Amino acid sequence: MLQDILPKKYDNNYYPDKTPADDAVCLIFKDSYVLTGHEECEGTRYIPEESASSLEKDVPAGDVFFPRYGQIKEQVAEYRYLFSIDGEEYFLITHYKGESEPDWAALGYAFEHYKALRHAKPKDRVFALMTGYHLHCWYRDNAHCGRCGSTTFHDTRLRALRCPDCGNLIFPRISPAVIVGVHDGSHLLMTKYNGRDYKGYALIAGFIEIGESAEDTVRREVFEEVGVQVKNISYYASQPWGMDGGFLLGFYAQLDGADRIKLDREELSMAGWYTADEITVEDDDISLTSCMIANWKKNIAK
Ligand SMILES: [Zn+2]
Repeated sequence: MLQDILPKKYDNNYYPDKTPADDAVCLIFKDSYVLTGHEECEGTRYIPEESASSLEKDVPAGDVFFPRYGQIKEQVAEYRYLFSIDGEEYFLITHYKGESEPDWAALGYAFEHYKALRHAKPKDRVFALMTGYHLHCWYRDNAHCGRCGSTTFHDTRLRALRCPDCGNLIFPRISPAVIVGVHDGSHLLMTKYNGRDYKGYALIAGFIEIGESAEDTVRREVFEEVGVQVKNISYYASQPWGMDGGFLLGFYAQLDGADRIKLDREELSMAGWYTADEITVEDDDISLTSCMIANWKKNIAK
C-alpha cells in the first residue's frame, strides 16, 4: 500500500521551531495542483477536476520531484514544517513574497494535478505528496475559527490550531471510512462506482457516521449499497488516505442469508459475485482496495 515505504521511515512528529535547510523539500499547492518537476516535464499539465482520476494511470516519465528550499527561498514568505521521511524534511509553502506568483516555469517546475501523480515513482515521495495535501487542506480550511470566526494561530507545541478569542483548539481532521470485502467463501462481491471517473472494480465502502462503530458502518453500508446482510466481520488492515482526507479501515465480512443483490444505483453502476478465477484485479501496491481483493483471491477464496 502507498504508506508502506520501508526501509524508509516516515516521522510525523511536529517540530514547531524547524526552519528549512536549502535541501528541504517544498510542497506548493494551488487548488488541487502541486508544483512538481519530473524528467520530460513540459510545462503545466492542467487536468480538469472531473477527469483527473481517470488519468491516474497516466504516470509521468521519470521520478517525480518537488522544489528544494534553496532553489526558491528568494520567493518564499511563509512556510510550515510538515514531516520527514528518512531525515528528508518536507515543508508546506504557504505564502510568497511580492504581489504576483513567482515564475515557477523559469525554475523548471509546473503545476500538476495531485491525483495524476498517484502511481508516480518513487513511492515515498508520492506518499509525502498525499500526506502533505491532507495537511495543506486542513491548514487552508481552518485559517479561521469555525466557532467564532477569528483568525487562528498555530499552537506552539502541538500540530493544532488555536483561536485567540474563544479558545477553540482545532486538531487535524481525519475522516474514517470502511472498505468491505463481502464474500460467501467462494465468491467476492465486487462493485463499480456510478458517476465517478474511476472505472475499475471496487469494494463496498463508506464513511463512518457520528455515533457509529466501524462494524455498524460495515453492516449499514453493505445493506444500503447492495441490500444483503453480513456476519463474521473481521478486521484486515488500515490505510491513511490523504487524497481525500480519509482513514480507511478494511474488513472482510461473510454473507448472511440470501445473496440477491439490490443495487443502490445512486452509488453504484454494478455489483456482482466473482470467483477467484474471474477476478483479474492485481495488487497495485497503492490502494487498500486492490490489496484486499488480491489477498482474498490468494488466501481466503475456497
Ligand atoms: Zn474562536
